[in-house]
Amino acid sequence: MNDKITILFVSASRADVLVMKTLFAQMDAAGDFVCVPAATAEVFYSAIYVERSYQVIVIDQQQTWSDWQTIASTCQAQRPHVLQVLLTDSCGTVPDLLDGGIAATYPRNSAGLVALSRLVSGIHGLRQSFDMEVHQDEATPDAEEAASEDRERLVYAVSHDLQDPLQLARRYADILTEDFEQELGDSGSKVLDHLQFNLTRTQEMLDELLDFSRLQRATPQREPVDLNDLLDEVIALYRVTLDDIGANVTKQHELPVLNVDRRQFQRVFQNLIGNAIKFRGEHPLQITVRAQRVRDEWRIGIKDNGIGIAEDDSKRIFDMFERAVDSDELPGNGMGLAICKRIIHNHRGKIWVRSSLGSGSVFIFSVPQADEVVEVVGD
Ligand code: ADP
Repeated sequence: MNDKITILFVSASRADVLVMKTLFAQMDAAGDFVCVPAATAEVFYSAIYVERSYQVIVIDQQQTWSDWQTIASTCQAQRPHVLQVLLTDSCGTVPDLLDGGIAATYPRNSAGLVALSRLVSGIHGLRQSFDMEVHQDEATPDAEEAASEDRERLVYAVSHDLQDPLQLARRYADILTEDFEQELGDSGSKVLDHLQFNLTRTQEMLDELLDFSRLQRATPQREPVDLNDLLDEVIALYRVTLDDIGANVTKQHELPVLNVDRRQFQRVFQNLIGNAIKFRGEHPLQITVRAQRVRDEWRIGIKDNGIGIAEDDSKRIFDMFERAVDSDELPGNGMGLAICKRIIHNHRGKIWVRSSLGSGSVFIFSVPQADEVVEVVGD
């Protein structure tokens, strides 16, 4: 298997291309990187349309023959699964990254190039470990699961490396707010508010991503946990809101004591009950918690009478940043259920939803019985 990392470097700066090549040459595994420079339109288009696979596309924001957005959207259209990175001159302005398919930005200077070469070598390391996993997993037919693990590892590498440039952008925005707000005038201040808002939101998303990736790596710290106590603690957290909206939480069955990671399961209950509150309908909210033993596992269900979920959405809402409602209407960023799914998978269980629009939802998760410590028989 060819495990070389091929980088398409779209830049008119021979110096930058040379620096990248030198940085790769300094790495131990220099032969594992191939840098394809594209300094002109002709070279770029023949590189992007040719049958060659790239793992990373680096786009210099300063282009002589086109603007970087056009280049980024061509790359996004032709190579939607390739990691795109932008080398940018300005720390103050954050370009419209997501539309162009850009996953990360780095300063267009030597420090940025060094950081970029580290990212690429990190990806190389990850690819090597993925390859090993593929061989080990050959007996496992679940290729979808393996692909999703690959994505999650990449998410970690990218979200981790984005923290520094984002911090820098936030710092500059703070300086503008603290020292230059008077000079900016009303419209300048509005733009700055907008910038601050979006930087904070980006920071929150990155934090969630990192948190998610860490969860994936963390082995659950198992201990006997009485789910009845855990539920009571979560209800206590939401007590004020539940009282305010006149909601009622009941237990249809006693819950079992399971050998699970207490903090992780608290997050699961918190996310599911929090969502039941957030996505409540017009009727007074009624949440019912059930427990059932099915064959060799325990199943816990959290049922609400809220707005419900369309069948088409019922799988994808468990993926990162996926939401079934217009995100502007209600707070959230679509990571809560992805986190629940990760935690339940960490405990070798499954999570799913039974719902339809307008008739409430039941979120059910299973925990294999081998994890059970004390059995409490439900009614
Ligand atoms: P967030 O709550 O931040 O949007 P989640 O990952 O927790 O993210 O949920 C993803 C989406 O699933 C939500 O945006 C919503 O569309 C849908 N959803 C989750 N829980 C419920 C629920 N109890 N009732 C209706 N829709 C829900």
